[in-house]
Amino acid sequence: MENRKTIKTLLVSAAVLLVAALLVFVINDSLDKKPVETQKYCVAMGTVITEKIYSDKDASDVCDGVEKTIKNLEGVISRRDESSVIYSLNKNGKVKTDEKTADVISRCGEIYSDCGGAFDITVGKLTSMWNIGEENARVPEEKEIKDALTYVDGSLVKTNQGAVMLGEGQKVDLGAVGKGLACDYVRDYLETTPIKSAVISVGGSVLLFGDSEKDKKWSVAVRDPSGESDEYMGVLSLSDCCVSTSGDYERVLESDGKKYHHILDPKTGYPSDSGLKSVTIVCDSGFLSDALSTACFVLGVKEGEKLLRKYNAEAVFIDNENRVYVTDGLISSFSLTSEGYTLAGE
Ligand code: AMP
Ligand code: MG
Repeated sequence: MENRKTIKTLLVSAAVLLVAALLVFVINDSLDKKPVETQKYCVAMGTVITEKIYSDKDASDVCDGVEKTIKNLEGVISRRDESSVIYSLNKNGKVKTDEKTADVISRCGEIYSDCGGAFDITVGKLTSMWNIGEENARVPEEKEIKDALTYVDGSLVKTNQGAVMLGEGQKVDLGAVGKGLACDYVRDYLETTPIKSAVISVGGSVLLFGDSEKDKKWSVAVRDPSGESDEYMGVLSLSDCCVSTSGDYERVLESDGKKYHHILDPKTGYPSDSGLKSVTIVCDSGFLSDALSTACFVLGVKEGEKLLRKYNAEAVFIDNENRVYVTDGLISSFSLTSEGYTLAGE
């Protein structure tokens, strides 16, 4: 019921949110000769999905296919949908599923190991206690956090030929990878269609499918983490990749004059405090861009950069002092557009 109410609210405000909901958004497509742009907005995964498909004719059918692809995935990985694989996994501690879904869990385990546990899908008990971004969000008692922390250990999750098993009492939450994963599923779907060029934005993750016409890049704005939802502090010039942002402004709980954001440090059980306001990751895979944005947000700049080298991913980090760190492979694609920020090292 509450969920339905939230969805309704999202739909009602969708028009306002078209740009506002996007943490990274496409400013323009720099096309000389514009092909037909088919647009669609819908709500899934608790966020507004923006689809822009470019082709020589109306592509409403493909837009519908994209929406269906995302909603199907949501039906598998949602924690709240009682018919989902993840709901069943959390309820029974084990589930037999398809290899593709089990592989997602197993890849989460690899990232967990590579980042020393900063990214850990077994934060499920903690995230449902805090519930930041939902109506019943609250600051849990210290004792509750301590107790929930005893169930957080990504190394206890096992997969074997489509079977997934959790450690005793554990609950998983795929919120840190779902939207990026949706970008990968949409790319797989678009590859079965004649479409060559599209921009699909799923909350904090964006799929840039193909190139903008004539090999021109898409201009992707990086949101100003301290500004309004339609303000940006820099622009990335990119094509054929995925971009995900994790930021401390996305979901916030205010209690007793203090602000708490939704990205938890699995070591403390509290919102992570690594000195960052946001991290934007660019790489080939939506899943990875999303997982790494969460991991790097918890790790901070130095450790985050080390992790990114391993995965051949690039990033824009923004710290609490408004310093901007851009990894070497992305510097030539990034332009700072706001005076309130300085590029680190300059
Ligand atoms: P993102 O906005 O992609 O960084 O994902 C944040 C979401 O992932 C939260 O709303 C939680 O559902 C979940 N989450 C929070 N902290 C973590 C963490 N340290 N590791 C994995 N998932 C997390
Ligand atoms: Mg993420």
